[in-house]
Amino acid sequence: MAPKNYDYRNDFVLHVMLTTRCTMRCQHCSFSCEPDKGEDMATATAIQAIKTAQELDLVVALGGGEPTLHPDFEEILGCAVGMSLKTGLVPWIATNGSQEQRTKRMFPLAKAGVVTAFVSNDRFHDRSQVSHDVLRMYREINRVFGEFSDAGLVKMGRQKEGLDTRCAVPQLLVWTDGSVRLCSCADAPSLGHIGQDAAAMMRLALHTTRTRPGLLNCWKVLPEEDRWMIRQRLMNHQAEQAHKEYVT
Ligand code: SF4
Repeated sequence: MAPKNYDYRNDFVLHVMLTTRCTMRCQHCSFSCEPDKGEDMATATAIQAIKTAQELDLVVALGGGEPTLHPDFEEILGCAVGMSLKTGLVPWIATNGSQEQRTKRMFPLAKAGVVTAFVSNDRFHDRSQVSHDVLRMYREINRVFGEFSDAGLVKMGRQKEGLDTRCAVPQLLVWTDGSVRLCSCADAPSLGHIGQDAAAMMRLALHTTRTRPGLLNCWKVLPEEDRWMIRQRLMNHQAEQAHKEYVT
């Protein structure tokens, strides 16, 4: 299947928080990560999350914290890439680039387009932790994020310090303990554990998406008796589109 890159606005994504550990303490970190704190997701939970994403036709975003700090990062990334070869949905990952060897090992996958991997290098990140080699490699494929414009990040802030002003991940998110949340906000309700029945999760996930592709993904997994919700959403979507076209 031809690989398809992640479209933030239109794809339905499952964010998998591999860890809340990090080597940096960025001012804009919505998860308030910092060195010497945090926890890793169990590897089995991460694999289960990837399998669930495959079942539901979702793009997997491997996040954190700094995802490359997870002790089994390579195994998990390998599993996500294996899934994408079957579904055509390319996994997405952002790293702070501090783990030089792991970031370099991931590069051929990024270059081949089987992983959409970014190195974050905006003014908030500790650039002293990232080697010139890593930056040179990822610049070559245009995958250094925030170097020239980080305007989108300035309103973000450390959630636990009350500085957070927007939701960093307005999509389904699997926390390090395996709980599935509607988004990344501190008060986001949990839908249960990643091992739960997929259709039940998607039913609740309908509340998180207003995009047509997202709704069509839901359609595929929901039983007939629950599809009325999608019909209603699609009708609303069409009405909104028609209204937008009318007023512009
Ligand atoms: S590198 Fe990422 S996870 Fe770490 S503190 Fe910065 S924004 Fe947070």
